[in-house]
Amino acid sequence: MESYAEEPLAQADPVISELIKEELERQQHNIELIASENFTPVAILEAVGSVLTNKYAEGYPGKRYYGGCDRVDEIEALAIDRAKALYGAEHANVQPHSGSTANQAVYFAALAPGDPVLAMSLAHGGHLTHGHSVNFSGRGYSFHHYGVNESTGRIDFDEVRAKARKSRPKLIVAGASAYPRELDFAAFRQIADEVGAELMVDMAHIAGLVAAGVHTSPFAFADWVSTTTHKTLAGPRGGACFCRRINASRLDKAVFPGLQGGPLEHVIAGKAVCFHLAASDEFKAKQRRTVENAAVLAETLLEGGLKLVSGGTDNHLMLVDFRGTEMTGKHAQELLDRVRITANKNSIPGDQRPPTVTSGLRLGTPAMTTRGFGPEEMREVGRIITELLREGPSEEKIAELLLRSRALTAAFPLYRSLTAK
Ligand SMILES: *Cc1c(COP(=O)(O)O)cnc(C)c1O
Repeated sequence: MESYAEEPLAQADPVISELIKEELERQQHNIELIASENFTPVAILEAVGSVLTNKYAEGYPGKRYYGGCDRVDEIEALAIDRAKALYGAEHANVQPHSGSTANQAVYFAALAPGDPVLAMSLAHGGHLTHGHSVNFSGRGYSFHHYGVNESTGRIDFDEVRAKARKSRPKLIVAGASAYPRELDFAAFRQIADEVGAELMVDMAHIAGLVAAGVHTSPFAFADWVSTTTHKTLAGPRGGACFCRRINASRLDKAVFPGLQGGPLEHVIAGKAVCFHLAASDEFKAKQRRTVENAAVLAETLLEGGLKLVSGGTDNHLMLVDFRGTEMTGKHAQELLDRVRITANKNSIPGDQRPPTVTSGLRLGTPAMTTRGFGPEEMREVGRIITELLREGPSEEKIAELLLRSRALTAAFPLYRSLTAK
């Protein structure tokens, strides 16, 4: 009897194969504006889909608990060296399975259970892993939160300082999932020094911008840095964390054996490729363009009569502010789906609506910039969005906007080599 071992996916499991094909088509035909998403290069898809998934490699290069690790040792060592070189970091750990795990590792290394930490609140743009009550972080440590000034939409450093003086944190966390402005790491460092805290920067969203020099680098200021590799950095889904040389063994022990078992060497190979590509001029130009595109999209939305939290953007994302209007984040997301634009509803500072509805919409340009969109295309995307959300649109209008959306994606093919298969 023939074994399934050598059968391609379409044969071995046609159901899953078909669903993956449909997801590829969704990605090809939709305008992707989810600020945390990107299109990773086919080279990285190949690395992540490789035989490295078979390999157990608990431990670190040269110090493994399993035999046969020569190749994965080389791969992981390259990933570490490239990550350090890309960011000018003293020490890197590339094993965290995700951004959340990278944060967990830093907390594990830097804190004892119950220690006070000061971070941005989720409601103002932070992340669940920054001490939300439903998350491990909020249960295991004593988090205090700062936010933005609700009239300016910007982090208020007087508030951060006052809260730091009051809560005496051991660690201050800077970094966000929905903050459209440059983060002032020097200001965070100063406050951390004033209260004797360490500084952790969670650069999950901006890692690509930092690598390209389009956002201030946190590495001169932070004791600890955590990141994802799949957002602006456009690598495989995963995480990484960094620290100063003196904390290297604490961080490594926190990741393994502290939190994880065997590392995902296929993903680590993808991260190695990602760090290699991120050092290229092409990558840097794309990151600059991501920010330019965000500025153009923001400008077009403002011209179209929408309001933005903080009035605009410095980075790759923006938050549309529907407070005081009939429109909600949920409804906007559903309308956008109908014209094949993918985005997410998002709570915004001062939001009166519940997180399942929200008064905000988060839009980002990394994925479509990777795909090739420039300012002209982003302006058209902005016009489609404002016409859709402004008019309480008729079916005819939706049909017209859908055609315009399709014309844009048709002009910028994605993953052609995958479709051919
Ligand atoms: C996305 C994100 C994370 C978590 O990343 P996952 O890979 O989804 O676990 C952590 N922190 C911030 C600021 C993020 O934006």
